[in-house]
Amino acid sequence: MQTIQNYFGCFVFDDRVMKARLSADVYTSLRRTIDEDKKLAPGVADAVAAAMRDWAVEHGATHYTHWFQPLTGVTAEKHDSFITPSPDGGVILEFSGKELIKGEPDASSFPSGGLRATFEARGYTAWDPTSYAFIKGKTLCIPTAFCSYAGHALDKKTPLLRSMEALNRQALRILRLFGNDTAKAVRSSVGPEQEYFLVDKALYDQRPDLRFTGRTLFGAKPPKGQEMDDHYFGVIKPRVEAYMQELNEELWKLGILAKTEHNEVAPAQHELAPIYTTTNAATDQNQLTMEIMQKVALRHGLVCLLHEKPFAGVNGSGKHNNWSIATDAGQNLLSPGDTPYENAQFLLFLCAVLKAVDDYQDLLRISVATAGNDHRLGANEAPPAVVSVFLGDELNAILDAIETDTPYEGVEKKQMKLGVHVLPRFNRDTTDRNRTSPFAFTGNKFEFRMLGSSNSIACANIMLNSAVAQSLKIYADRLEQAEDFETALHEMIRKTIRDHRRIIFNGNGYDDAWIEEATKMRGLLNYRTTADCMPHLLDPKNADMLLAHGVFSAEELRSRCEIMLENYCKTIVIEGNTMAAMARGQILPAVERFAADVARNALQKKQMDASLPCAYETGVVRRLSALTDEIAAAADTLEVTLKKCAQAEDVFAESAVIRDEVLAAMTALRTPCDTAETITAKEYWPFPTYADLLFGVQ
Ligand code: ADP
Ligand code: MG
Repeated sequence: MQTIQNYFGCFVFDDRVMKARLSADVYTSLRRTIDEDKKLAPGVADAVAAAMRDWAVEHGATHYTHWFQPLTGVTAEKHDSFITPSPDGGVILEFSGKELIKGEPDASSFPSGGLRATFEARGYTAWDPTSYAFIKGKTLCIPTAFCSYAGHALDKKTPLLRSMEALNRQALRILRLFGNDTAKAVRSSVGPEQEYFLVDKALYDQRPDLRFTGRTLFGAKPPKGQEMDDHYFGVIKPRVEAYMQELNEELWKLGILAKTEHNEVAPAQHELAPIYTTTNAATDQNQLTMEIMQKVALRHGLVCLLHEKPFAGVNGSGKHNNWSIATDAGQNLLSPGDTPYENAQFLLFLCAVLKAVDDYQDLLRISVATAGNDHRLGANEAPPAVVSVFLGDELNAILDAIETDTPYEGVEKKQMKLGVHVLPRFNRDTTDRNRTSPFAFTGNKFEFRMLGSSNSIACANIMLNSAVAQSLKIYADRLEQAEDFETALHEMIRKTIRDHRRIIFNGNGYDDAWIEEATKMRGLLNYRTTADCMPHLLDPKNADMLLAHGVFSAEELRSRCEIMLENYCKTIVIEGNTMAAMARGQILPAVERFAADVARNALQKKQMDASLPCAYETGVVRRLSALTDEIAAAADTLEVTLKKCAQAEDVFAESAVIRDEVLAAMTALRTPCDTAETITAKEYWPFPTYADLLFGVQ
């Protein structure tokens, strides 16, 4: 039998393959590029390309592609076969170093936000040797960055790599100050927990809203939702289990460390978490994971929904970005060790994160802003749109002690008895679980919980890396000049705690009172929608920081802001159009048919016996008639607001119309439709209901 060890990573050109197939010189040189960001030495690319081609062909590949992440949110690939004609009429298989390093896809159809005029169609892709190449189907996929000819980044990988470099630069400065002369690099690592829904494909196919928008735009609450809390961590149903098993195998073959799987809170909702890895690879792997989740689902007659809010009234799906920073030697800089109080270096890095999150709350909010995620943030199921940090009691007490210069008494480390005597006794994790914080310290890493399930994790990590790099830069600038390092360090930590205490919140983030306190008393930002937050990407405070660290150019920032807003508008316009079409084309006719049949029944009954009151029939017809009038009027209004969008002078104005008018018009249309569903006989209803979808997979 094939064991996991045998096939794990079999489709990845990973370190094992490189070692086995590259000459010692080429291997060493390539490793230096990967590990120490050294430039690729001449000749290396050709040798690597040849080895990759041989390996890929042996594994059944016929094509190669530069695999990249344009600003659409999904990945892109254009396949070229390895064949080249040979003089004898046959073909040979070729793949050169040049083809490995650089590709020139037609860039004109990818969003560029004005960075590249359509007449200047060319863009180029550039090999990212820090993320392993892999085989998907018959194609060798080479992770690449995607730029315009003028060198502007048109993708998410380029700024992510730049932000990692910025963090590396500044963190190394700090480590040197603490006497660490051996660390060669500092990298951020991420473990993204991914939530998703599984629904039956046959049911999905009958819902235009799911097919066109990935979420249900109509649907009355089912008699049972998630109120019994019986799904979370519940027994996994056979069909889902078969899916998870095949998914794991596919991911393992691609070297993705799929580790944890369980049912989530909502019915039909599940989660998958891999073991964490370097942010860059984690980002590529998460994109790949989302793609494979959807592909494998189809093989099981299922559809995997990655939308943030597929169903109203039950929890939506997010993604937890577990983030830490570590040296190349494996030292986690966010690990407190046994006596955190003495661990000044840890405290400085912790403070850098606190300061970063407070100074750049808006960038973090922006990094997770999409039309889909707007439904979750602040809806009592996901962290609010207000960003705050959870630290836990022990760290809090330590920070208090430092701020007030009082001796640290410590929080007694309680021994936790689990009640089952055979289980070992262990020290309770000092950072108690807090599920409602947007940004929680969880022992040796931070968990950023605001990401939506379909988000690329690139954006969140670009902002996180950059903002922390900025804190570290400010610290290093000061400390490098200090006459007395220890005094300056102590002052620095104290100042950070004093200045940024407002961002620390250890209570219930879902509580309305917190939002009130956060915004009114602490002055924290609360951008409820994408339309509210996105324009702040260009605020001088934010733009200056991102520019200073070389993460974005001014043009790139402007274009990104426009693309994200455009995306928001297009998404909601498509939803609006789909709603209007479903209301007119499916819901109204169905309700009419039912009402007509009921009315006819009443007439027949009355013909039989004129004294029959037919109260039921009369009531149903009256109510449905009122509802159909309301639905038709609401559909008209929605269409008027959608027209207004089309006439908006730019994307900023359009997003405001969406936020202020279209969303309300959509709700006004949905409400009577959902009520009509509860009155109309099931056999008349034109598409599967929430109950069908949420409880349809066994
Ligand atoms: P929970 O659901 O309790 O948050 P999980 O085990 O589902 O925990 O997910 C935790 C995630 O955090 C995993 O992906 C794990 O690999 C990741 N993780 C653990 N340690 C680190 C670290 N030092 N840096 C980044 N991610 C980490
Ligand atoms: Mg988690």
